[in-house]
Amino acid sequence: MTARILSGKTIADAIKAEVANEVAAIREVHGFAPRLIVVRVGDDPASAVYVGSKVRTSEELGLASDHLHFDADVSEEKIVNVVKELNERHDVDGILVQLPLPKHIDEQKIVELIDPEKDVDGFHPVNAGRLMQGHEGLVPCTPAGVIEVLKRSGIEIAGKNAAVVGRSNIVGKPMAMLLLQENATVTICHSRTRDLADITSKADILIAAIGRAGFIRAEHIGEGSTVVDVGINNVSGADEAAELFEGEDLEKRLAVIEKRGFTLVGDVNPKDAMKKAVNFTPVPGGIGLLTVAMLMKNTVTAAKLRRKID
Ligand code: NAP
Repeated sequence: MTARILSGKTIADAIKAEVANEVAAIREVHGFAPRLIVVRVGDDPASAVYVGSKVRTSEELGLASDHLHFDADVSEEKIVNVVKELNERHDVDGILVQLPLPKHIDEQKIVELIDPEKDVDGFHPVNAGRLMQGHEGLVPCTPAGVIEVLKRSGIEIAGKNAAVVGRSNIVGKPMAMLLLQENATVTICHSRTRDLADITSKADILIAAIGRAGFIRAEHIGEGSTVVDVGINNVSGADEAAELFEGEDLEKRLAVIEKRGFTLVGDVNPKDAMKKAVNFTPVPGGIGLLTVAMLMKNTVTAAKLRRKID
C-alpha cells in the first residue's frame, strides 16, 4: 500500500481564494478591507520568514496589513502600550504578536492583553475557553488548518478514533478540542504517555505535533490510518535523512542538505507512513501551508464578528 499524499498547497490555495473573494465582497459592500497588524520583536530569522509570509499573503488577498518591528531590547512596557493602542483602534481587526518573544517580555501577559475579538492567533484564554465550550470564536490557525485538510480531503472524522500526540496550547490541545467538536473519540498523548505505540496504532486519525524529527515510526501507525504531520524540524545529517527517506526522495533530500545545509522534516517517519497509512500529509508542503491561509481566514472572521457584518 502507498498512502495518498494530502497536498497542503491545493487546500491552502483554495482557502486563500475564498478569503480573497470575501475580502472583495466586504470592500464592495462595506467599503473597507479587514486589517491585520503583525508585531515582531527582535531578529529571529525564522520569525522574520513567518512574518514576511503573513504580510505578503495578506496583501495578495486584498487585506490591509502592517508590520510593526521592534529591536530585541525593546521594553515590555513599550509592547504593552503598542498592543493597548491596537486594541483601541477601530480600523484594526486582527493583532498577531509573533512568538517567541525575547525572554524579558512576558509572553503570556502580552497574549492575554490582546483584545480577544482581535486575537487572530486564537491563543487568548477567552478564545481557548470558547473553543473548549464549543462556542463561536477565533481558533488557533494550525489545528484549524488540519481540520480543513481532513474535511476537504473527504476524510470522515465523526465516530473515528483520533490520537493527538502533543498537548501544547497552540497545537495539541486545540487540535484535540476541534476533533472532539467533529465528534471523534480523542486521546491526547504526551511525553508521559505509557505505551504510546499501543494507543496511536489503534487510531484511525493520528496527529503528530511533537517537535522531534521522524519520531512517529511504523510501530506507532495503524494500517489504513490517516496520518497528519504537524511537526517542522531541520535534519542536516545524511544518516538521519536515510532513516526517513529512500530512493529518489532520499536523493532529493540529500541534494537539499548539500545546498542549504538542512532539509525540513516532520515528526513522522515518511517512509513508514507511506507504507502503512492511507492518507499522509507531507513536510514540507502539508500543514505548514495551511497555517498562514487560516490566519487570513481568521482575520476576515474577526472583522465580521467584531463589526457585526455578514
Ligand atoms: P511543544 O510546545 O514543544 O509541544 C510538544 C509536545 O510534544 C508536548 O506536549 C510534549 O509533551 C510532546 N512530546 C515531546 N516528546 C514526546 C514523546 N517522546 N512522546 C510523546 N509526546 C512527546 O511544540 P508545539 O509548539 O506544539 O509544536 C509541535 C511541532 O509542530 C513542532 O515541530 C513545531 O515546529 C510544529 N508546528 C508546526 C506548525 C505549522 O504551521 N505546521 C505550527 C506550530 C507548530 P509534554 O507536554 O509532556 O512535554
